[in-house]
Amino acid sequence: MLDMQIINKTIEALNKNNFDAYFVDNKDKALALVDSFISKDDVVTYGGSMTLFETGIMNYLKNKNDIEFLDRNKEGNTPDDIQKIYREAFTSDVYFTSSNAITEDGYLYNVDGNSNRISAMMFGPKNVIVIAGYNKIVKTKQDAIERVRNYVAPKNAQRLNMNTPCVKTGKCMDCMSKDRICCNYAFFGKQRIEKRIKVIIIGEEYGY
Ligand code: SF4
Repeated sequence: MLDMQIINKTIEALNKNNFDAYFVDNKDKALALVDSFISKDDVVTYGGSMTLFETGIMNYLKNKNDIEFLDRNKEGNTPDDIQKIYREAFTSDVYFTSSNAITEDGYLYNVDGNSNRISAMMFGPKNVIVIAGYNKIVKTKQDAIERVRNYVAPKNAQRLNMNTPCVKTGKCMDCMSKDRICCNYAFFGKQRIEKRIKVIIIGEEYGY
């Protein structure tokens, strides 16, 4: 349930940690805000996120003609093309992603298999824009860990058709599978570069 007290507390804590955090009511307002953060000729790319598709932000980026959009999902891309885009992301102007969990005390938590996403969030792109539904907010860091173990990762493993035990059980079994999607675990705390990572929390539910 949308609780403005919790959202305001989270926004305040994120800003204290040198993120640049915003709350908007809906995806249209998120899109307007996103538009204000992108300049003509910017090189823009993204990390895997259902939220970017569900909010229409992915579509908006694909159709924006005055930027250079590095789209790893473009039809015809070879595995080499995709690897190249992963590396080009480090010199991009704007990098879009979501977060697996946002804590009320101002931390982002992301878990990756390939880890192109968390590495670009940590270093490289001039600006990182995190788009998240309010459903990603959790109270503590332990809640963030549990959210990923018992909800996010199993859902993603199902979506990606992975051969991992959590696909069947719906919770983490600490697998040793070749298909394991949880390889690197990152909490993003107080940032040295102020406002490099912008966080837009939407008052609607998106993603896992
Ligand atoms: S570690 Fe394995 S079992 Fe646990 S959530 Fe990740 S993929 Fe699923």
